Amino acid sequence: MLVSKVSISEVQVSLDGKVCEVKWSDDHISRFHAKWLRFNCHCSQCYPELSGIYKVDFPQFPDDTKLTEASIGDNALLTKHSWDIMENHTTTQPFEWLRSFCYCDICLSSLVKSRDIISTHFENTKVQQDIPTIDYSEMKDNDVGLYSMLQKFMESGFCKISNVPCEDKMVLQFARRFGPIRETIYGEMFDVLPHNSINVAYTCKGIPLHMDQQTYEHTPGIELLHALRFDDEVSGGVSTLLDMFQVAEIFRKESPEDFKTFLEVPACFNTIDYKRKEVPLYFEVQKHHIVLDYYDKIVAVNWHAGFASTLRIKEKDVERYYKAHRKFSMIMQREKLVGRFRFRLRTGDLVFFNNRRMTHATDGFTNNGGIRHLQGCYLNLDECKSKYMTLANKLGLEVTPPKVGNASSI
Ligand SMILES: [Zn+2]
Ligand SMILES: [Zn+2]
Repeated sequence: MLVSKVSISEVQVSLDGKVCEVKWSDDHISRFHAKWLRFNCHCSQCYPELSGIYKVDFPQFPDDTKLTEASIGDNALLTKHSWDIMENHTTTQPFEWLRSFCYCDICLSSLVKSRDIISTHFENTKVQQDIPTIDYSEMKDNDVGLYSMLQKFMESGFCKISNVPCEDKMVLQFARRFGPIRETIYGEMFDVLPHNSINVAYTCKGIPLHMDQQTYEHTPGIELLHALRFDDEVSGGVSTLLDMFQVAEIFRKESPEDFKTFLEVPACFNTIDYKRKEVPLYFEVQKHHIVLDYYDKIVAVNWHAGFASTLRIKEKDVERYYKAHRKFSMIMQREKLVGRFRFRLRTGDLVFFNNRRMTHATDGFTNNGGIRHLQGCYLNLDECKSKYMTLANKLGLEVTPPKVGNASSI
């Protein structure tokens, strides 16, 4: 929470010396613990010049380190401690910084809520919204356009970019503007082009809703698919994207018992192919379909019905896992969900989506003599979030760091 121009009107050390109670000029009350204050000292002796270099050796401080004094200095809270590694040290925190880090229940829940752009988005949005789209020309050499694209991506979980030049490997060039390519065992780029696609009336089966690369512990955060060619002759092939964070929130509300099962009982995902021509594969990982963080916020969803392998769970959990799985799958099938999008890519379209938030699917299609050729690659969410925040900073925009689905609210 950003509160500017606040000052402290009263300070008091609790009788046991464990906390400093601060009353602010707007009557807000904060309570800061002795060690928390000491280890976040902003004085020139303590404050790290470079992040990652600690000047204060935390473990040296005994468990019963207490506060002995608290006073109001020049725009700063000043405190003294019962024990210190530095002589005559005064712990110092500027007002504005201190208030922005207040960890009372109100401030903490407001901070976490403000970052939960995903829940806010589907709570405030109507069913059958437009597909978030931007034209390539708007973001090609333009930071404002690039930021606007990322903003749509952060809110809706994806953005479609139209009229991206249909050149081989253009998807890699596009992706590198956001961070390094997240390479997988399938290389830095993959082609989605059925080998029989030039045959007249060749039919390709549809692919149900899934997240790519679930067999990795660290699933790639962003997937890009560029339609190099999607001829009008091809019938079908409509894409679906579904916001799994919304599905998970509905699941939590409607079936608390089953939701708890998903938090407690993990699924297994594997890809085992000893005969694979390029590189043989042995991937297996056990992880939960839904992950909550410290604040009970949904921060990760893992879903791929196809690569889910034989369960290896305790006997007592088998039945309840299948019950929860069925309920969750039934919510995914609902047509009227804010987070469900259906669209057909056109030649030159590039879809940039969060592969840890959205599942994606393609309807079956028949080529009818036409060609559907996509090229795809992956990025990490962390670098993309960093790009979003630093771009906002460069443009002078005040932006709350968003929850992106990388297993963390903060
Ligand atoms: Zn200090
Ligand atoms: Zn507070």
